Amino acid sequence: MVTNTKVIIVGAGIAGPVLAVFLKTRGHDPIIYERLPGPAEGGHVFVLQPNGIRVLSLIPELVEQIPGHPLDGLIHCSCLDGVEDILRFGFPLIGVRRPEFQQLLIDTAKKYGVEIKWSHQAIEFEQSEDTVKVTFANGTKDTASFVVGCDGLHSNTRITLFGKEKVDFTGMVRRRLSLVNNFGNGRHMIAYPIAEDNITTRGAEAKEDWRMQNEEQQNGIRNGPFSESTWGFGTGDLVKTGQKIVKYGLYDRPKLESWFKGRIVLLGDAAHPSSPHLGQGANQAFEDIYHFMRLLRKHNPSADQLSTELLLRVFTDYQDLRLLRTSELVRGARQQGELRVVEGLDACRARDEAIRKVSDNDAARKARHEMWSGPFTENEM
Ligand SMILES: Cc1cc2nc3c(=O)[nH]c(=O)nc-3n(C[C@H](O)[C@H](O)[C@H](O)COP(=O)(O)OP(=O)(O)OC[C@H]3O[C@@H](n4cnc5c(N)ncnc54)[C@H](O)[C@@H]3O)c2cc1C
Repeated sequence: MVTNTKVIIVGAGIAGPVLAVFLKTRGHDPIIYERLPGPAEGGHVFVLQPNGIRVLSLIPELVEQIPGHPLDGLIHCSCLDGVEDILRFGFPLIGVRRPEFQQLLIDTAKKYGVEIKWSHQAIEFEQSEDTVKVTFANGTKDTASFVVGCDGLHSNTRITLFGKEKVDFTGMVRRRLSLVNNFGNGRHMIAYPIAEDNITTRGAEAKEDWRMQNEEQQNGIRNGPFSESTWGFGTGDLVKTGQKIVKYGLYDRPKLESWFKGRIVLLGDAAHPSSPHLGQGANQAFEDIYHFMRLLRKHNPSADQLSTELLLRVFTDYQDLRLLRTSELVRGARQQGELRVVEGLDACRARDEAIRKVSDNDAARKARHEMWSGPFTENEM
């Protein structure tokens, strides 16, 4: 029997488990369905920024357990013609490895009594007046009051609601060897002080699937042009000695006109997948969660049965607040990527100069401040 407040979350990646904890602690009955048999082992390192951490801090003792390194600052440096040059310094963040961070979020969701069903790929959604019935690839079905699609870049929920569209390959691939932004001629590396590092280059499309390259492919990169000693600040050596190398394409998708249909709504990468050049994908997913939960509570404080009309109000307010904001960030991230990886010495010098200037630029400082001071000053969730 379906309770009125049962919520199906599709995807136990980064957003799903966090949303589940907030739903559970605020009177709903969430269940997560994940297509993989368990937490993904591979994956990139990423940076949690103040706006995302602010949302996570609403879950008691979670931030203290984040398995990452607090970063004291961001350094941009460049090496052209063998000359090492520091371009600009910046701010405090936490660098995490996706697998350990995801595991913490899953353990936290379980601690709060959230059920996670692995090996359940959602393939079909059938909506009625008060419920949504979800069918999974293994033949099982479940029904809930509403569904939140947290199923990432290749979201089935999104396809089901709005049809198939082409993902936009940004023309770059990132090679993760394990926050210094290190620019070179036709290349860019972000290095996080946790164990390993990242390089972004232009290259052939490599679908992002959180998996490792085989040993031969990894050796090809270790011994390839990115390990040249002429790439300064020890960057070439980091490539040469990297223990694990993952290569995947960097994608975004065109802006959607709407994020929901009936009783199904999108959140996180399913709604607004972004190339990672602003490091805001997961952080924005956490902002989505904050506002979604705040609006759900505002319109339905007792977490009672939600009429379609009431749900429409929640979904519309959530979408109106978030759609434009996130699409601007997706565009901004793509522009950053274009700026970072340029080829030819003249273009590289122009890039270095542009980056150097940004440190003195009030507009950029204001934009960063605005981004990191979200999504709330006083918790209204
Ligand atoms: C190279 C790189 C670097 C990045 N760096 C940063 C960074 O520094 N900071 C930052 O904030 N973000 C960063 N990101 C983005 C960040 O990883 C994503 O924004 C974040 O993972 C989105 O979380 P999500 O839960 O929406 O999607 P995901 O984490 O992708 O999770 C989706 C989950 O849904 C599951 N799933 C998919 N389809 C189905 C289905 N049909 N049924 C059931 N389950 C399904 C998937 O298996 C997966 O577990 C980076 C991304 C990349 C690629």
